[in-house]
Parts: sequence; C-alpha cells; structure tokens
Amino acid sequence: MNLEGKLAVVTGGGRGIGRAIALELGRAGARVIVNYKGNAEAAAATVTEIGNAVAVAADVSTQAGVDTLLAAAEREGGAELVVNNAGITRDGLVLRMPDEDWDDVLASNLSSTFRVCRAFAAPMLPRRRGAIVNLTSVSALMGNAGQANYAAAKAGVIAFTRSLAKELGRRNIRVNAVAPGFIDTDMTRVLPTELLDGVKQMVALRRLGKPEEVAPLVAFLLGPGASYITGQTFVVDGGLS
Ligand code: NAP
Repeated sequence: MNLEGKLAVVTGGGRGIGRAIALELGRAGARVIVNYKGNAEAAAATVTEIGNAVAVAADVSTQAGVDTLLAAAEREGGAELVVNNAGITRDGLVLRMPDEDWDDVLASNLSSTFRVCRAFAAPMLPRRRGAIVNLTSVSALMGNAGQANYAAAKAGVIAFTRSLAKELGRRNIRVNAVAPGFIDTDMTRVLPTELLDGVKQMVALRRLGKPEEVAPLVAFLLGPGASYITGQTFVVDGGLS
C-alpha cells in the first residue's frame, strides 16, 4: 500500500495498538503525527522508529488538546488520514461505579473521537479528501460485565462512525471503525491472569492478539484499496465474538 505524501495523525500513538498503527502507516510512506497524553518517552521512541514522524503532546479528551493537535497538523500542511485510537478503561461494576469513572471513560473514548473528527474533518471538506478510522471494541458488540462504561462509550463510537460517514460521504471523506478483541497491550496487562486465561478459552485462536495484528486493517481502511468502504465496523478478535 502506498500512502506516500500523506500526513496521518494517530491519537495515542506512542504505545500499544496506536504505536503499531503509527509504524504501519510510516512503513506505507505516510508522515505520521504521533499524539500522546503523558508518556513522552514512548512517543519519542515511536517517532524515532518511524523516522518521518513527529510527536505532539495533547489530551484529546479536551477541546484545548484537540485544538493543539489540529494546529500541529495544519502547520504540516493538513492531515488527510486520522486514527482515533486514544482510549482508557476504568473497569468496575455498575452499582459501584463512581460518576468520575463513567465520565472519564466517555470523555477519553467517545467525546475525544467526536471532537477530533469535528476539528479534522473541517479542513478536509474543501480538499475533498480524507479517511478516518475510529477504534472501538468487541465489548461494544458483546457487552462485558465490569465494562459498562467502556462498552457504552465504544458502542457510541460505532453509531457515531456510521452517522459521520453519511454526513461526509458526498465530500469523498470515509469514516470506518475497527473493533479489536483482547490485544496484548498495557491496557490488558493489568487484568488478572485467571481472567486472561478464561478469555483465551473463548477465543477461537486460543490466544490474545498482538497490536501488529490490528494495524494492517487500519492502514488498509485508510488507503486506496478501501475507496468504496465507509460507515462500517470491522472486528479483529481472533474469533472471540
Ligand atoms: P494502551 O496501551 O493503554 O495505550 C493507550 C494510548 O492512548 C496511550 O498512547 C495513551 O497515551 C493514549 N491516550 C489515552 N488517553 C489519551 C488522551 N486523553 N489523549 C491522548 N492520548 C491518550 O491502549 P491500547 O490497548 O493500545 O488501546 C488502543 C485503543 O484500542 C483504545 O481505544 C482501546 O480502547 C482500543 N482497544 C483495545 C483493546 C485491547 O485489548 N488492548 C481491545 C479493544 C479496543 P500515553 O502513552 O501518553 O499515556
């Protein structure tokens, strides 16, 4: 795939799935803006590995952070490819869930996606070119005890993706979602071993996925091979769902 000459933004691109996506886009020839929130070291390492890349610190759960990220992209000539990958979990049962855990998860997974899309789609309109991929989760499709906040946020991302695709299609801007299952990153490494062992038994391939097994699909959806695909959600879960 050739993404030569294109500028891509990956939110939360320093670690985990975002890092693998940033590397994949870099390999395809894109210049990559690696956004991160707090882990400057991881983002710098990712940028070094890509080469044609730059790190931008910005909390995309806030409008100020999104403004900073957009300004950085416009200085570079404008982003044609956007990946909303930044996300967090605050797991807990609904009856014991503090408002803060609900609000933070909605802000970092769903509102961030809305604000980044609103900001980055505006300059794409006159250019009549652009592709966006939003990271959701199989939790949104299956439900998951202890993740009601996260599942609700990620289900919102799917509905948002479908709707935005219908708003932007006439301007040749495509919007799709990718729903990973359990992928081996810092996000899942905090889960108890017994839980992960149980998960593996439910996965047809009997193992967790690797970030590098999610990234190629994201890159494909951003590229020319996906020119007639928009509004869809694609699952990468080793056969869990
Ligand atoms: P991760 O290893 O925890 O990394 C999360 C990344 O997001 C980090 O780079 C972090 O930045 C960044 N981030 C978090 N909040 C941010 C904010 N407000 N502004 C900017 N950056 C922010 O997570 P992951 O497992 O790679 O997950 C990536 C995406 O895939 C998430 O949307 C997640 O919900 C989704 N997903 C993951 C799995 C899985 O099993 N791992 C499954 C389904 C879906 P810092 O490095 O600066 O902290």
